[in-house]
Amino acid sequence: MNAPSAEPSMDEAILESIGRWLDKKVEPVAAELEHDDIYPAALVEDMRELGLFGALIDPQWGGLGLSATTYARIIARISESWMSLTGVINSHLMMALIVQRSGTSAQKDYWLPKFASGELRGGLGLTEVDAGTDLQAIRTTARRIGDHYVVNGGKMWITNSIEGHVLALLVKTDPTAEPRHRGMSVLITPKIDVETGAPLPGVQPGRKLPKLGYRGVDTGEIAFVDYECPADLCLVGGEEGQGFYQATSGLELGRINVAARGVGMARRALRESVRYAQERRTMGKAIAEHQAIQLKLGEMATKVRASELLVEDAARAYDQGGRVDMEAGMAKLFASETALEAATEAMRIHGGVGYSLEYPIERLYRDAPLLCIGEGTNEMQRIIIARQLVARNRI
Ligand SMILES: Cc1cc2nc3c(=O)[nH]c(=O)nc-3n(C[C@H](O)[C@H](O)[C@H](O)COP(=O)(O)OP(=O)(O)OC[C@H]3O[C@@H](n4cnc5c(N)ncnc54)[C@H](O)[C@@H]3O)c2cc1C
Repeated sequence: MNAPSAEPSMDEAILESIGRWLDKKVEPVAAELEHDDIYPAALVEDMRELGLFGALIDPQWGGLGLSATTYARIIARISESWMSLTGVINSHLMMALIVQRSGTSAQKDYWLPKFASGELRGGLGLTEVDAGTDLQAIRTTARRIGDHYVVNGGKMWITNSIEGHVLALLVKTDPTAEPRHRGMSVLITPKIDVETGAPLPGVQPGRKLPKLGYRGVDTGEIAFVDYECPADLCLVGGEEGQGFYQATSGLELGRINVAARGVGMARRALRESVRYAQERRTMGKAIAEHQAIQLKLGEMATKVRASELLVEDAARAYDQGGRVDMEAGMAKLFASETALEAATEAMRIHGGVGYSLEYPIERLYRDAPLLCIGEGTNEMQRIIIARQLVARNRI
């Protein structure tokens, strides 16, 4: 039998270097950048150097080709320090995976190396003012004229739409199609000329939306007015009518990612609470000795562990292939609700200090609710889980 190697695996080595970067570079600046809602440009550059913009892109196009399991561990670790940073890479990778999964060979060769290096960074443009959960209600259209598409419409709540360079944009190529999803396509829509970097006409980034939490990272509006893009490079897969499936097929991994963010944030809330409960003394003893606090810590620790296991389970199932919307939905639902609950309990354990802008608890408390909304609300997760449950157990 071979003795276990003392060398860390490549995945472990990546995690270790990310951990060192978080401790050294992110922790000292996260609170200030977050409170002032400043885009973390220097940290984004670091993430580029760490290869994170290519984390899930196949090595043949210059990515790291990591498994969902390792990716989830990375996302959880970053979220322990500052969840906003995970939005910069995750939205980008959701866009890249649409091309990797459904693009033509020419599209993969053109876009993926630029996405993997972070030279072109972007996100996913699905939501509109009147279309969030009901994605098929979008109104943005793309009309084919010769070898181009002409895009008109507006998107809302789009992460990376201001600082990023390109979006995977869900559009209607046939607004009259029934059922509605048959008229939907995804276009890769750069905001800049890829060769020169000059802004392209017809795309108008709007406001950076003010948010309760998840600050620093840009979430904005964006409008397209007679914006033109070449059909061969931009229509994902080269065939109209596939967009709804292309856009939503990435959501399983997106949900595992949101669940991993929940794990990281809940872990941080627990860690801070365990430490503070031993430091803070009332009635002659550490508050960790009071049963009221012990009940909270016991509940939090159990739910954090359950969240970790649900995320590992969903990521492993994803890596093995096949449909995992039930597993991803369960992980997302439980881990995000746990993050919200753990942040609230951490605030109670910290008393007045938890309410202070000088401690990290208030940030967790403001960031956590987003996890219950993004990548499909938790109401929808319950419905998805139930539907799958019935479908897998038909009588
Ligand atoms: C900070 C932030 C970043 C975001 N980033 C992006 C991004 O990068 N790209 C992007 O495309 N979008 C993004 N979004 C949008 C996000 O995906 C949507 O907000 C989300 O899908 C919910 O849609 P909605 O806000 O329109 O809510 P609605 O769809 O209006 O839902 C409102 C409520 O009704 C419930 N509901 C709706 N339909 C049903 C139903 N059929 N059955 C039961 N309950 C239902 C919902 O669960 C919710 O409780 C972001 C949002 C935020 C807040």
